[in-house]
Amino acid sequence: MSESLTQVAQKAGMKLPYDPDTLKQKYMAERDRRIRADGNSQYREITGEFAHFVDDPYVEPGFTRAPLQDEVDVIVIGGGFGGLLAGARLREAGVKKIRMIDRAGDFGGTWYWNRYPGAACDIESYIYLPLLEELNYVPKEKYSQAPEILAHSQAIGRKFDLYDDALFQTEVTGMNWDAKEAKWTVTTNRGDAMKARFVAMSNGPLNKPKLPGMTGIEKFNGHTFHTSRWDYNYTGGNSLGGLTGLADKRVAIIGTGATAVQCVPHLGKWSKHLYVFQRTPSSVDVRNNRPTDAQWANSLEKGWQKNRMDNFNVLVSGGSAEVDLVGDGWTDIFRKLTTIIARQEPVEKSKASSAEMAMLSELADQQKMEEVRARAAAIVKDPKVAEALKPYYRQFCKRPCFHDEYLPTYNLPNVTLVDTLGKGVDRITEKGIMFAGREYEVDCIIFATGFEVNTDYTSRSGYDIVGRDQNTLSKKWANGLSTYHGFYSNGFPNCFFMGMTQTGITANIPHMLNEQAKHISYVIKHAMGHNIRAVEPTVEAEAAWVAEIRKMASVGERFYAECTPGYYNNEGKPKDNGNGFLNGQYGGGPVTFFKILEDWRNEGELRGLEVS
Ligand code: NDP
Repeated sequence: MSESLTQVAQKAGMKLPYDPDTLKQKYMAERDRRIRADGNSQYREITGEFAHFVDDPYVEPGFTRAPLQDEVDVIVIGGGFGGLLAGARLREAGVKKIRMIDRAGDFGGTWYWNRYPGAACDIESYIYLPLLEELNYVPKEKYSQAPEILAHSQAIGRKFDLYDDALFQTEVTGMNWDAKEAKWTVTTNRGDAMKARFVAMSNGPLNKPKLPGMTGIEKFNGHTFHTSRWDYNYTGGNSLGGLTGLADKRVAIIGTGATAVQCVPHLGKWSKHLYVFQRTPSSVDVRNNRPTDAQWANSLEKGWQKNRMDNFNVLVSGGSAEVDLVGDGWTDIFRKLTTIIARQEPVEKSKASSAEMAMLSELADQQKMEEVRARAAAIVKDPKVAEALKPYYRQFCKRPCFHDEYLPTYNLPNVTLVDTLGKGVDRITEKGIMFAGREYEVDCIIFATGFEVNTDYTSRSGYDIVGRDQNTLSKKWANGLSTYHGFYSNGFPNCFFMGMTQTGITANIPHMLNEQAKHISYVIKHAMGHNIRAVEPTVEAEAAWVAEIRKMASVGERFYAECTPGYYNNEGKPKDNGNGFLNGQYGGGPVTFFKILEDWRNEGELRGLEVS
């Protein structure tokens, strides 16, 4: 019989002020009451009568231009960090004709769309903002606010001449492979039919906003919008605050994920009354933002950003390093987890079974989460509200949040937390929101309900890809992704995927995108320099990579099966997750994955690729 957490804790000499098995039962109960049969399909796709929720509020309406039928070397779809990094690395590799395409009105991706008040990055800016040394720029604060990140995205576009030939306010509608010419034809909603030898796609993992699964949204007579299309005409102010338009407004926000954690303090400060409708609380730890020390910035030596990114990546992958250069909430989580485990001398690590090690890790996680819960209790004055704000799940079941103003907002007299006890709001009415038999009348409802995840890749990208022999990507990937190293799929030559497609993922997503961009530009440069018309993975290499991904997925599946539902675990159905968000990724971690790519490039043989 397997040991209990209490037994393992006793064996390890841990003196815990709580009972770990009872706590685990509480976690399981919190999960169970949130599991829904409809899982991921509970959400509403933003189409038809809801289409206005995704209109671009940041451009003048009425933009037109003549359709294009020209040809470039590489089309890059997506002008966020992934696309920008691909563009930059391709320029460095000497590629001349690059065309960037994005449905937005400018570069920036996530940071173009997400301009809600308080929007900021909570990965340290010095490692999060790409290409800082190339642009000779050091961010103003440890955690950059959204306008600085958007401006930096545009600066990358200018630095690498990516505005040349760029097409904004343009949605790709299809891609067709012409085997005779060995070129792609990319079509768009503006009537374009452009040719390109190569296409790199960085559509973004969280690019398509979604609405919650509840009735009545269309009935509401007040104002409403999604956080990723913030309506400053209504609220007044900007990303930095000053929402003066809300002074006489009763506002409701639905959702308490990472986005809500950042905008709730501004809403609380400016609204006449704010109702926060919570289904599951976020884990909210210390943030401690501060301005950049000019002396430190001046002392940075060549190669500093890569060193810092690598250092963070090692630490948040459970590895060890002599120094913790970033020293923030993320590295703290891992430091605590590893030191708590390392401290358990009675269960000598070398002698501990893997089951015992997993339980030690779980005990360490519980202790870290006890800290997070204690923080809520210490900050929020009303003990009932504080209790409702405590997250009862493991640290990485959901995206950890870091904020110093979120929890204090609940001490304001004009802010009400409506805890829906894991159920979610019942429905929307003409006047407001119904929950547990009470109608909350409001003037405005803001949806902080996140983005489409775990649906089909082509549903999220918004177009299908017709490859060799007229085969479509939607059909090939109908039962799950199939790639080699996450980049390419047999039958779709000269087509490169970036982002979360069977890749090695790290908490610092731009780091991952940079490694992907380097790799793609290496392959394209090689192909262009060696007269290679088409490059795609062999069936065998792809099958081996998919098998490798599946082999390690079971660890993630076990972990996520015990989590409260959310997009990290396919809304409580981690096994069905053929399109994997986290558990469909390379289980060996980002450090190993980046090394696999580097070694592959150093071999110089394009191993696993078929060239013609
Ligand atoms: P999330 O998907 O994380 O959160 C959606 C929220 O809506 C959850 O709290 C969810 O509750 C809630 N919800 C969904 N349906 C209902 C319902 N029917 N009734 C009540 N509540 C409901 O979206 P976010 O936009 O907050 O964040 C998305 C991601 O973007 C983050 O995870 C993070 O990766 C990224 N991000 C990063 C930031 C940064 O600093 N770098 C800042 C902001 C976002 P439940 O949990 O119960 O499902």
